[in-house]
Amino acid sequence: MTLAAKPNLAGMSLAQLRDYFHSLGEKPFRAAQVLKWIHQRGVIDIQAMTDISKPLRDRLASEAEIVLPKIVEDYASEDGSYKWIIEVASGSRVEMVYIPESGRGTLCISSQAGCTLDCSFCATGKQGFNSNLTVAEIIGQLWWANKRLGGFDSLQERPVSNVVMMGMGEPLYNTQNVFPALRVMADGEGLSLSKRRITLSTSGVVPDIPRCGEETGVMLAISLHAVRDDLRNELVPLNKKYPIKELLEACKAYPGLSNARRITFEYVMLKGVNDSDADARELVRLLSGIPAKINLIPFNPWPGAPHSCSDWDRIETFSDIVNRAGYASP
Ligand code: SF4
Repeated sequence: MTLAAKPNLAGMSLAQLRDYFHSLGEKPFRAAQVLKWIHQRGVIDIQAMTDISKPLRDRLASEAEIVLPKIVEDYASEDGSYKWIIEVASGSRVEMVYIPESGRGTLCISSQAGCTLDCSFCATGKQGFNSNLTVAEIIGQLWWANKRLGGFDSLQERPVSNVVMMGMGEPLYNTQNVFPALRVMADGEGLSLSKRRITLSTSGVVPDIPRCGEETGVMLAISLHAVRDDLRNELVPLNKKYPIKELLEACKAYPGLSNARRITFEYVMLKGVNDSDADARELVRLLSGIPAKINLIPFNPWPGAPHSCSDWDRIETFSDIVNRAGYASP
């Protein structure tokens, strides 16, 4: 006989916690109390949740659990950035990266262990797919970053001010876990991050783009990387299913899109592949009419990578064309 797994309170949004407490015959406000203890105060010992009555704590301690993934590797850079590798329940390892900048700190987190897609410039794609991360494994990355960086000491001065879902995996292939995790990040009883400071990056799963806007309200980023379908089919094979025209139509209709809430288009600079002046001009033409930012990313090669990074002069020339058209391109 296998015992049913205990519900993991770290893997529930406010609505899911309310349902859970309702099922126990408890008042809904218990949900907000537990969410605050875990995600605002960093407390995962149920017995330390002192505004919850002792009998209820005892019941929760025996019937539920709070389980987060483990950090198994820890790298710190002199510039204040960190990379952590976490191990998830499937035994796979995924990474998250923290980048401090003036006035903000950005955490880049993963949504899947490995990836089913096979973008030609991406090392994750080469390792294949292992598992979808659970809600607790996604939100747990933020929990650990706050724990390691002192983020539970003061709600006002959190080191992680921005979250980008741009690490391993395609988040729109794991919406059942990614969307509740995004809700915990944005919820006032959870991490209280502004939705304008949370970005989901997709390689272009067109049917789920409207849902992302409607159900989460977070900012959108698109891994574009090419301006012609023949090339994008090679670089981002999902393009064969959802070509550029369809993708950009979905972007134009993204709920909440405005000049204050622009879509970020990511464009990795690959030497001799997608970095010509004509590519830059076509990029500007394609994006006209979409409130957009363009993020030019120098390619970071790995052993055996089929591409190399564009020369710096080429990146600057490309960037000048994009800037002259009125797009910021950091
Ligand atoms: Fe890599 Fe993202 Fe493409 Fe997956 S979707 S292969 S993680 S770039």
